[in-house]
Amino acid sequence: MAPRITGTTRLLGVFGDPVEHSLSPCMHQAAIAALELDYVYVPFHVRREDLADALRALPALGVRGVNLTIPHKERALALVDEVTPEAEASGAVNTVRVEGTLLVGHCTDGAGFMAPLTSTGIALDGVRAVVVGAGGAARSVVHRLVSAGAAVLVANRRAQRAADLCAAMERYARRSAPRWVSLDDSAVVQAAMAEADLVVNTTPIGMWPHLNDAPPAPAEWLRQGCTAYDLIYRPEETLWLRRARERGCRTINGIGMLVHQGAESLAYWTGARPPADVMEGAVRIALTGP
Ligand code: NAP
Repeated sequence: MAPRITGTTRLLGVFGDPVEHSLSPCMHQAAIAALELDYVYVPFHVRREDLADALRALPALGVRGVNLTIPHKERALALVDEVTPEAEASGAVNTVRVEGTLLVGHCTDGAGFMAPLTSTGIALDGVRAVVVGAGGAARSVVHRLVSAGAAVLVANRRAQRAADLCAAMERYARRSAPRWVSLDDSAVVQAAMAEADLVVNTTPIGMWPHLNDAPPAPAEWLRQGCTAYDLIYRPEETLWLRRARERGCRTINGIGMLVHQGAESLAYWTGARPPADVMEGAVRIALTGP
């Protein structure tokens, strides 16, 4: 159904480059329609060099807020007027809220990551976790895991990046500081995975269209009965996740994180409680569409 746009309708959107494959417009528009909110959510193709100008234009245009996606999330930290503690810890802004003339940067990736764990009753205090990858998404993941009391090992191709991530996360650790290892050190990674309760793939390996690729932390190293969590949502089940399921692991894909980071953003802008089931339905239709 086409959105009803009137003179009072407020604007929301997503800045990205590219932005045409973003699932956010359909997911947010479905929630806006279900809640009968007077908003419309649109994609903005904003190039890297135009981010500062595009952000500065938001108050003048009366835009309520935007999501930021590749390649803007990290750079926006320095371009907004204020950042929330969550954005600071995540080292990224995926949600900007316009408050008068001020831009407030927030990050909902961590809340999105947590939602499927919470809803399946997986407690994190004292859990042994391995996080594969140390990029932007890994930062939100490690922040939430160490804050909840998990013992985390970060395994990354570029060891220095993992070391930097762990150093930045030390102050958030409820129990023990996160540790790191190079993915080349396969004996250490294998031993840690054999003991882990939770293993999270935060690399893009296995993402569409590279469906036959699997991360360098093979599912065969997972302990039967552990939880394997892949942040990828396209495809719904990566090769790594399928192998984990066949090994008898509990599996979680990236759809729940995608939906819940979006729901948190919409709540942050509007104060409404978005219907995650409606948003997930819209995402699933978009993922199976042409
Ligand atoms: P990023 O900042 O570019 O980080 C990518 C990470 O993957 C880095 O640690 C990188 O290692 C590693 N990597 C990439 N290719 C590799 C390879 N061939 N071998 C070994 N390691 C490799 O990306 P990101 O923003 O964190 O996103 C990562 C993934 O998370 C993507 O698939 C994205 O779609 C997904 N994600 C999902 C959600 C969701 O809502 N479900 C949200 C955010 C992200 P180096 O440091 O050595 O380069």
